[in-house]
Amino acid sequence: MGVDLHTHSTFSDGTTTPEENVALARAAGLEGFALTDHDTLDGLDRAAAASRAAGLEFVPGVELSAEWRRGGEIVSVHVLGYWPDPSDSALVAECARLRGEREDRARAMVERLAALGAPVPWARVQALAGQAPIGRPHIAAALVEAGHVESVDEAFTAYIGEHRPAYVAKHALPPVEAVRLVRAAGGVVVLAHPELTFPAAVGAEGRGVTDPAVRALFEELVAEGLAGVECDHPAQTPAAIAAWRRITADHGLVATGCSDFHGENKAVRIGSCTTEPTVVHTLRAQASAASRSEESQPW
Ligand code: AMP
Ligand code: FE
Ligand code: FE
Ligand code: ZN
Repeated sequence: MGVDLHTHSTFSDGTTTPEENVALARAAGLEGFALTDHDTLDGLDRAAAASRAAGLEFVPGVELSAEWRRGGEIVSVHVLGYWPDPSDSALVAECARLRGEREDRARAMVERLAALGAPVPWARVQALAGQAPIGRPHIAAALVEAGHVESVDEAFTAYIGEHRPAYVAKHALPPVEAVRLVRAAGGVVVLAHPELTFPAAVGAEGRGVTDPAVRALFEELVAEGLAGVECDHPAQTPAAIAAWRRITADHGLVATGCSDFHGENKAVRIGSCTTEPTVVHTLRAQASAASRSEESQPW
């Protein structure tokens, strides 16, 4: 039971179609799920139609890549937007810009791989991405195919993970701008997987965000209208989940749960962590696009 508020499909770096996500969510006994592909809204219509047919609650979403500059370091901060207006021109333009940015960056990574003695054909990377904005998992799959590594995981640890030799960062909006963009499009914002993004930024439960730079950023996001924090995530530790839950409650925000399903690209199953339906309804009530009349509702 529950709602899985973060899944990916072939419209970004998942390996299942939106319809397959619907079927898997149904088979897992979920009440609903969200499709939150990276930097695109393109899969939402299909997921909505299949959910309607299956009698599942569907939450339209997007996972925007934002970029936080911390000293000389660039930290990729993932911002989940739910129920945004899909025709919002600023949001659509940013998704298009990010798609182009991802392509340039993927080309640069492929060039680095060639220089490192692990060449992959650019055409294969493009084919593996298909309709999706190109992501590192597509490059990882090309590396496996070419026999340079045994697994996607090895591709990340050897070549394309952060701080590895073929890694190239994307240029994206600062997190505060990403929150504003989703809010201006009528959507609701949840901070994705905070422990993965800010490892060791929180103390034991009750001690709050102990890293001062992360605390300042978090306070800024809250001031911009952050509605929730993705506490339950299969890759986060019980201690961090407890600490972030407490911080979330202390700020009057809601705690969400998800699988961050990526099909074959990650070992988690849809519904492995979920969000209470009442929490989903609390979030929905804050979405202006979703509270318009049925007729004008895109989903
Ligand atoms: P990108 O948005 O192109 O930077 O790629 C990020 C994607 O790579 C995210 O969906 C991550 O879940 C995925 N990813 C990051 N590290 C790993 C890893 N070690 N193994 C598999 N997927 C990963
Ligand atoms: Fe991903
Ligand atoms: Fe993410
Ligand atoms: Zn994700």
